Amino acid sequence: MRSQDGDLAHWETVVGILGGGQLGRMLCQAASTMGLKVAVLDPAEDCPASRLAHKHHVGSFRDRDAVREFAKSCGVLTVEIEHVDVDTIDALATEGIDVEPSPQTIRIIQDKYLQKVHFQKHGIPLPDFLELKSIESVEEASSLFGYPLMVKSRRLAYDGRGNAVVRSRDDFESAVASLGGFEHGLYAERWAPFVKELAVMVARSRSGELRCYPVVETSQKDNICHVVEAPAQVSNAVAQRALDIARKTIGSLEGAGIYGVELFLLADGQVLLNEVAPRPHNSGHYTIEACYVSQFEQHLRAVLGFPLGDTAMKVPAAMMYNLLGEAEGDAGFNQAYQTLRRALNVPGASIHWYNKAEIRRQRKMGHITVAGDSAALVRARMNQIISSTSFALH
Ligand code: ATP
Ligand code: MG
Ligand code: MG
Repeated sequence: MRSQDGDLAHWETVVGILGGGQLGRMLCQAASTMGLKVAVLDPAEDCPASRLAHKHHVGSFRDRDAVREFAKSCGVLTVEIEHVDVDTIDALATEGIDVEPSPQTIRIIQDKYLQKVHFQKHGIPLPDFLELKSIESVEEASSLFGYPLMVKSRRLAYDGRGNAVVRSRDDFESAVASLGGFEHGLYAERWAPFVKELAVMVARSRSGELRCYPVVETSQKDNICHVVEAPAQVSNAVAQRALDIARKTIGSLEGAGIYGVELFLLADGQVLLNEVAPRPHNSGHYTIEACYVSQFEQHLRAVLGFPLGDTAMKVPAAMMYNLLGEAEGDAGFNQAYQTLRRALNVPGASIHWYNKAEIRRQRKMGHITVAGDSAALVRARMNQIISSTSFALH
């Protein structure tokens, strides 16, 4: 099933994506421009990718049989979420099914503790960390790393939902309980007193060539990505350090595709790795309008064995804003539509709506990107769109 050399083979290859959320949807959009075929496996009939996919198989990407059945109809299997049944894709790869990035990479990344161990072994700078097995080990972590102490779930984390901040001894039990207890798999991280959070998207070809997108700055609100500014307003030295770390980080993994590398910038200019996503990433949405080749097209190129595309920005500046649900039901939809409507009147703004069937507070419903001639201009234009909401920029 490994895609053959020759153009026809490439174009006819069905790219099978485990997951049909917004990232799967935007992969379908990129595939459609290029005339490529994308199938998705997702349990929700009305998942964001369902209407745009060449084929939507209804089933869970965590279910062994569903993944096996789905793989039969795909030329190459990839993911839009790392929380998939990795044992099954590992077995499929051993049986000769083409899986990109490699199941081993997904296995390392889906367990954030294993991720830390792997990257530390490869000499990537990151916050100190310790596996947590008991209250005594939380005590040990707090005496080693001090307060505040970050306690994290090893698995199934997203949007900060697997994180708990421990500020004193009094918080130990409640932090552990809020993350489901030690049996759930926990670890502690030294607090990173960052001045900025940075991110770099890195593409890796089947032959191992690496290409980095520009360094961007991400701002989180309540642990969820709020806005992304591209390029990051940092010195050349810091940008180069971030790019070097991102390249080395992804160089230590196996398999083709796009990867998101989240970084902390400290006051003294040090850059530390936070975590890696083995797939398109929220911090790369700006690439759709602002770069020659978007992260989504790049991922398809990489897994299909096409040449990687140009990662440079084609505009001086861009800003992306995540449209989160602010209320449930119709009230939430109305608020979101008002924001989108305002964006339609702003030069350089592009709107993305993911067609999720239900709106929930803090759920990513869409995003808006403003591209323009300077960082100040795109910021001002973005604020025209969101200044009247609770997400105004300061
Ligand atoms: P994502 O949605 O990006 O997958 P996640 O749930 O995996 O998020 P992290 O990226 O580990 O969570 O953490 C979420 C946010 O919490 C980070 O972007 C950062 O703002 C903050 N954070 C994480 N680790 C630390 C740390 N060691 N020190 C300080 N802040 C941290
Ligand atoms: Mg994460
Ligand atoms: Mg993160």
